[in-house]
Amino acid sequence: MSDPCFKPGLMPFEQAQKALQDAAEQYISKVPRKIRSIPIWEADGNIVASEVISPIAVPGHDNSAMDGYALNLSSDALEQTSFEVIGAAFAGQPFQGELRQGQAIKIMTGAKLPEGANAVEMKENVERASEQQITLQQPARLNANIRRAGEDIELNQTVFVPGHRLSPADVGLLASLGKTEIEVYAPPKVAIFSTGDELKAPGQALSDGDIYESNRYVVITMLRRLGAEVIDLGIIPDDKSAIKDAFLRADAEADLVLSSGGVSVGDADYTKEVLDDIGQVGFWKIAMKPGKPLAFGSLPNSLFMGLPGNPVSATVTFYHLAKRVIDVLSHADVQGSVKFSATTTAKIKKRPGRRDFQRGIAYPNEQGQWVVEPLSQQGSGILSSISRANCFIDLPADNAGYQQGEQVMVEMFAAYLK
Ligand code: AMP
Ligand code: MG
Repeated sequence: MSDPCFKPGLMPFEQAQKALQDAAEQYISKVPRKIRSIPIWEADGNIVASEVISPIAVPGHDNSAMDGYALNLSSDALEQTSFEVIGAAFAGQPFQGELRQGQAIKIMTGAKLPEGANAVEMKENVERASEQQITLQQPARLNANIRRAGEDIELNQTVFVPGHRLSPADVGLLASLGKTEIEVYAPPKVAIFSTGDELKAPGQALSDGDIYESNRYVVITMLRRLGAEVIDLGIIPDDKSAIKDAFLRADAEADLVLSSGGVSVGDADYTKEVLDDIGQVGFWKIAMKPGKPLAFGSLPNSLFMGLPGNPVSATVTFYHLAKRVIDVLSHADVQGSVKFSATTTAKIKKRPGRRDFQRGIAYPNEQGQWVVEPLSQQGSGILSSISRANCFIDLPADNAGYQQGEQVMVEMFAAYLK
């Protein structure tokens, strides 16, 4: 039995990835960059467009890391355990005054350290002998429990550079700098449609032989998580003029046009004819599985990617190839994925020839070692395999399969898929 998909002369996956990235970089270099200022509340997932320099130090003042007592320890009396208490400092209510040798104030976590304080002892180690007097259980350490001004962020520090995708912690960091707005790039516009006479949208009645289409739903949901502006052109029937119309409308508005279906050589696939008319598009056979057929090229005003019709192929092709294009069009740093090696709990079947992104469920076993269970159904139509999985098992093109217990590369699904 031979794998019908294995043929020599396929384009290596890495070459396809690089060619797509190069084309996207070339496209974006010719488009004026659109920058806008948005409230930090809306910043999550956006791409930083201008360097962010901190206008203040964080924290802005030396402060206590503990509830306890701020002390003035003298360098020649480090063993001192008895101190005079001359006041108190609370977060937001500093002590007005200076500590001299042998003096202390009661201090709360986050309260500003007074002049002269050079250590904080936590209250658990302190006995309050009287209103004016404390005794430490053991001598304090110089500089203990003090958070220094600027230890989080220094004044004038570069906090973010262009290309950085903002996360929840980043939004908090901006808030800690007192920022209310941030300059980000306008998101890329991505138009998408599905082709196929058999496709119906959820909510419509199915005729004999029809299916509910799912690709637009998976891909648009990923696009939204990636922050793209989506132009949804719906389902287009296998009709040459309808397909041409859809392409022209999409091209007029979008930076990237995505279609799904009709890129393999089927009888009713007019995509190729239309693209030959209006654009410069290559039909690639990529040495990847699932995936393989991919149309890619340029329309008069935009880039175009024709994803395969099979739902798993469309999802995986988007994940591993289109995502990069979108990163480049977003002006985002293109980052490699996090991978690690895990032990497969079952035999993995594979023929040499194509890089295979099988779906699996990775988890730490009882010994705390990472294992991965390959899902039994790996067909390109089995969308539930992606829904159930939490990772790809990334199998190199030349590999011929693995026995149970062997080490394989696992790539946990990134946040835009899981
Ligand atoms: P095609 O690439 O158009 O030959 O389609 C390959 C397979 O994917 C066929 O079984 C189609 O019915 C299916 N398919 C195409 N587009 C979609 C879609 N948008 N959602 C779900 N399945 C699809
Ligand atoms: Mg079709």
